[in-house]
Amino acid sequence: MSTIRILEPTVANQIAAGEVVERPAAVIKELLENSLDADARRVTVDFSRGGKAQMIVEDDGKGMTGDEALLSLERHATSKIQVASDLDRIATFGFRGEALPSIASVARFTMQTRTASAPAGTEIAINGGKLVHRRDHGMAPGTRIEVTNLFHPVPARLKFLKSDETEAAHIVRLVRLYAIAHPEVGFLLREDGREIFRSPGNAPLLDRVREIWGRQVAEEVTIMPTFERPGMRLSGLLGKPGVSRGTRQDLVTVVNGRPVDSRTMAFALTESYHTLIPKGRYPLAFVFLEMDPAWVDVNVHPAKREVRFRDEAKVRNFLIESVLAVLRARADDGLPAATIPSVSAAAPLTSAAPTLSSPVSPNGVPAAYVPPSASPAATNHAPAVRLGWRLLSRLREERAVFETPTGLAILDIGAAHQRVLYESILAQFTAQKPVSQPMLVPLSIELEPLPAAVLKERIPLLASAGFDFEEYGRNFWRIQALPAWLEPEEALAFVRDLLAEMARREGDFGRPSLAYDALAKIAVIKARRKGDSLSDPELMELVQALFRTVQPGSCPRGRRTYVEWTDADLTRRFG
Ligand code: ADP
Ligand code: MG
Repeated sequence: MSTIRILEPTVANQIAAGEVVERPAAVIKELLENSLDADARRVTVDFSRGGKAQMIVEDDGKGMTGDEALLSLERHATSKIQVASDLDRIATFGFRGEALPSIASVARFTMQTRTASAPAGTEIAINGGKLVHRRDHGMAPGTRIEVTNLFHPVPARLKFLKSDETEAAHIVRLVRLYAIAHPEVGFLLREDGREIFRSPGNAPLLDRVREIWGRQVAEEVTIMPTFERPGMRLSGLLGKPGVSRGTRQDLVTVVNGRPVDSRTMAFALTESYHTLIPKGRYPLAFVFLEMDPAWVDVNVHPAKREVRFRDEAKVRNFLIESVLAVLRARADDGLPAATIPSVSAAAPLTSAAPTLSSPVSPNGVPAAYVPPSASPAATNHAPAVRLGWRLLSRLREERAVFETPTGLAILDIGAAHQRVLYESILAQFTAQKPVSQPMLVPLSIELEPLPAAVLKERIPLLASAGFDFEEYGRNFWRIQALPAWLEPEEALAFVRDLLAEMARREGDFGRPSLAYDALAKIAVIKARRKGDSLSDPELMELVQALFRTVQPGSCPRGRRTYVEWTDADLTRRFG
């Protein structure tokens, strides 16, 4: 009954395209890699409507003859490997010979290319995998590929694309990564003819970072000297102590000129910084590792950047040793001894320390500990006086022991503090009455394109939480007002973390109730409170506030706030 047929080449290509080109940025990635493989010294990338309408990658590389150009559009046509054993030693980016035919099968595709020795160039046009024309074309040596109407031949795939802004953000991030990975190549990136960045090439790395990633980031890094081991070389820029991020977004790792994701490298870098930045956060770094291509496994997945090393431990140790050497040297020369420990103390996202403009009482306990009578938290619970907890003793820094009407309890002060803060923030959201503090001098923040796109989408949510953002340039924002619970000094770090989290958990932030919950959780997660900074009366206030919350037994992440032994428990234990 069933018929088995060999797929038409176009269909096979469209299927392969599903793997290679999942979104516009993936098309740009393939074209860019081809340009770099062709020894381009200058690459220009143009796109519009997030790449959905048009993408152009133009290079001054070695180009192709007319016949080579036609052949390059055949499946598995590649000039880069010939036999399977070549796969073990891949020094070029592409090697599957799949990208061009795949892209040409799902878009309108025009290639113009010319080698230096050819008298003229060739233009080949393809639409949805079908050849439209091949003709001579006058041009300088190099290659220009234009891709328009991506996925029009396969409408089902169109609807998986995100907003223009989100797709554009992916493109910008990708081109930045490749530009940073190839300091010798000049890059120009434009959206609708508007320049996003231009970097002439051959500039020192720090200048390169400034041109490509922006001034703020360039100020947060210092130069790392080159380290060598047999067969390996490491260089780059490292974030200054105390500079940290909530995601790996600014942990840029480049292996043999290829921007990669490597768990091993990210782990090694994060480990090296572990005393300098708070737990759960990532350092900022641009790290370049060069090594024998035979030690690197790139054949993991066509669309992914994940890389594996033949000897992960060796790479990890090399990185940790080198980065620690830099950080120790920095700590020795010049930095006062107190600087490094205090860095992690300065880093929590929010704290309840008093600020003039926020409703925080001078003893450091937010006034919102006594929730407004409208707050649901205030009504359900017994008044604090009847709680009957009596402080017996402090237990190291973060715990306290209490006698309770029914036995003995040990309180985790940090967890209790988080629960109280979380519900007071949440209560403000649900009351739709955020307490906002206007900034006398607005804070400015420069964002990566992806977080900037997320921010734009979430402005109404953030406004309802008490933020006032104003865009005053591409990816530049001014913060005119903050929610009262957020300290101005922590605001920039908080906003970066929040946007990263929003990008990671897109769905959760679409529904207001989930969004507020997530927002409040992020706000308190780092609000660790050292128990010894509270006086005894403040500690009692905290306990009373805890028992006015909806769920006094656990912190917002589910850790217990206290453990209790009843008299019966104790009797049993002595029995
Ligand atoms: P791969 O890169 O895996 O070889 P592609 O489909 O990306 O496969 O490209 C096929 C071939 O086309 C390449 O091997 C290369 O010879 C040629 N090619 C593609 N892009 C360029 C370019 N920009 N300049 C010169 N040659 C190119
Ligand atoms: Mg390729």
